[in-house]
Amino acid sequence: MANWNSLRNELEQLKKDGRYRNISVWESGSGTWMTIGGRRVLQMSSNNYLGLTDHPDLKTAAIQAIEKYGVGSGSVRTITGTLDIHNELELELAKFKGTEATLVFQSGFTTNQACMTILGSNDVVISDELNHASIIDGIRLTKAHRKIFAHKDMDQLEAVLKECGGYDKRVVVTDGVFSMDGDIAPLPAIVELAEKYDAIVYVDDAHASGVLGRNGKGSTDHFGLHGRVHIQVGTLSKAVGAVGGYAAGDQVLKDFLIQKARPFLFSTSAPPSVAATCLAAINVLKQSGELIEQLWANAAYFRGQVQALGFDTGASETPIVPVIVGDPARTMQFSDLLLREGVFAQGIVYPTVAMDKGRVRFIVTAKHTKEDLDHALGALQVAGREMGLL
Ligand SMILES: *Cc1c(COP(=O)(O)O)cnc(C)c1O
Repeated sequence: MANWNSLRNELEQLKKDGRYRNISVWESGSGTWMTIGGRRVLQMSSNNYLGLTDHPDLKTAAIQAIEKYGVGSGSVRTITGTLDIHNELELELAKFKGTEATLVFQSGFTTNQACMTILGSNDVVISDELNHASIIDGIRLTKAHRKIFAHKDMDQLEAVLKECGGYDKRVVVTDGVFSMDGDIAPLPAIVELAEKYDAIVYVDDAHASGVLGRNGKGSTDHFGLHGRVHIQVGTLSKAVGAVGGYAAGDQVLKDFLIQKARPFLFSTSAPPSVAATCLAAINVLKQSGELIEQLWANAAYFRGQVQALGFDTGASETPIVPVIVGDPARTMQFSDLLLREGVFAQGIVYPTVAMDKGRVRFIVTAKHTKEDLDHALGALQVAGREMGLL
């Protein structure tokens, strides 16, 4: 048997630190109320912002695609894995985003790895310190020079850009909506600086897709920056309700990624049912005005009430509402107490966030009712008092 002592030691240390993750296993599909251990609890941690995972149109589209094409695509995109439905999805996504082209990948995570392929050894990538893990890993795979700027600090970004005139390409990369804090990137300021210093703007809109902008078109649309953001990454796994990711931008970007991006070249394309689901989701998004209004109204109500109870919701300005606890072990304890009170909200601790910034992260959806949100607020009050947070 292999000697796994080093792994065992690390696992023991995680348990001692109160940072060991236990995986919750659900007995029902994603929704506002879900079953765990035979018990119905209010679920407030999914990325199912618009409740599309069980939308009848999406389910029908998936089933019909399975009947027509089967369950798998059978190959990578460059061999027999590009079905007409994959192309159709990319065309519809480009129309929706208002870009020349889009290219779809297996996940948002791999989309970031793919897009970093544009960076060569004479280039520099300049990244917000709170960017998503998939951006960080994507950067690690390149030979480009790396610079980090403090979260949303435009003075620091400008100082870095000033020093980077000698590189072939400068790429500024940011989350559109930051996944742990729920705040929005200062995209207009980033675009202005990028134009001043001749840099490419790359925004990862995973938590903005289907959430921010008209009909959920993302942060570029939200700020009216069409044509001035060069790479828009989106996910099909969160508000869109299925799985996958895409890069939206100029045709030349797509052409380049098709030739060079390793997740495109060396990993099998999405099942046809997933492409069909996403196509149906775009149609829903086109008529999603009220749904997205409800999402933002729910978020404003919930965040306001959480703050009124006396909790710290950090920088939240989107449906992502963190309740900051601090210490990792206490954060997990708070999450456990909430579950006892019938509310599931995920504790998030170091290394996902800073050691003293542990939080229970709530994500409000359009499908939560006022009664649901009030139930969560009641649980927060009980658990908060019990832990001396209030
Ligand atoms: C969730 C997330 C991703 C990964 O998207 P998947 O489609 O789930 O792989 C990438 N970037 C950010 C900012 C995210 O929040």
